[in-house]
Amino acid sequence: MQATMKAVRLTAIGRPLEMMEIPLPAVGPQDVLVQVRAAGICHSDAHYRAGVSPAGPLPLTLGHEVSGVVAQVGELVSGWRPGDRACLHYLATCGHCAYCHQGTEQFCVAGQMIGKQRDGGYAEFIVVPARSVFPLPDAIPFEQGAVMMCSSATAFHGLRKGRLAAGETVAVFGAGGLGMSAIQLARAMGSLRIFAVDRDAGRLALAERLGAVPVRTDSPGVDATTPLDQDCQSSVADEIRRLNGGRGVDVALDFVGVPATMRPAIASLAPFGRVVAVGLGDQPVPIYPYQEIIGREAEIIGCSDHLASEIPLLTELVRRGSLDLAPVVTEVIPLDAAAINAALDRLERYGAGGVRTVIEV
Ligand SMILES: [Zn+2]
Ligand SMILES: [Zn+2]
Repeated sequence: MQATMKAVRLTAIGRPLEMMEIPLPAVGPQDVLVQVRAAGICHSDAHYRAGVSPAGPLPLTLGHEVSGVVAQVGELVSGWRPGDRACLHYLATCGHCAYCHQGTEQFCVAGQMIGKQRDGGYAEFIVVPARSVFPLPDAIPFEQGAVMMCSSATAFHGLRKGRLAAGETVAVFGAGGLGMSAIQLARAMGSLRIFAVDRDAGRLALAERLGAVPVRTDSPGVDATTPLDQDCQSSVADEIRRLNGGRGVDVALDFVGVPATMRPAIASLAPFGRVVAVGLGDQPVPIYPYQEIIGREAEIIGCSDHLASEIPLLTELVRRGSLDLAPVVTEVIPLDAAAINAALDRLERYGAGGVRTVIEV
């Protein structure tokens, strides 16, 4: 095997990523070396490059949405052979702390996210612990296997945290990458009615094609920023109730994380409803304890990342076509620093939407 490899790396905050020739990573006894075939470019990567979210130590190879082919396995690893198709859980975990033992390894005391805290997939090869490697069926193209591992996996975890049951109604706030997966997965989990709330008509049109009832926040009478009335309703929540026969929803997923979406998400709940907070917000959100939570026995649930144990089920839903990721992969580029920087520039200017650029290696 070759001794060095190409990697596109963050060398300084606020600077363009650079192509470097670096040594192939060492493969520990419990590790797997994967030859990268596809790596998704995520909005988070633009945040790491700009210094909006911390990443490092530098230099660091970005890329946390990765699929590929097993190239080499550590001496204690069983079940994997060179040539096997694989997709990677984006957390490299220790496997033996209390959180890892109870299957909640997103809180691993030594956990490191690939492409953020350790080298990621904008490279020819990546090394990860074997427990982060999952089979990728032949029926799923590498590009879809890569993008599945970030937004789809987290949307799936959000629906599971919300304990969505067959027959229940769902409201999805933010019809971007996470929202598109959430709508399809909610259908696969038996939701009979899904509302999609967004400002963007194009995103809502795609949400509608995927089976959601569109609720546009800037259409007349529907404005997420309208002050609350005395009944603690916002006009978006009122519109959802009107469209849902006067009833609230059982699960509301907030993928945006601002008061303008969290407020109507809370206000739209039916008795026993659950809001799942996924979008990363840093502003306080007012809550009326009696009217909105106590009186309805409602819940607000945090959702951070996703679980390794959810990946096989998610993979099966993609393989069966219950979650179609073909519309999500809108552009394929080579492992090239200029092309990757240009894609990150576009994300900074226009946001992620429901679409992904994927690096094919
Ligand atoms: Zn991502
Ligand atoms: Zn651990």
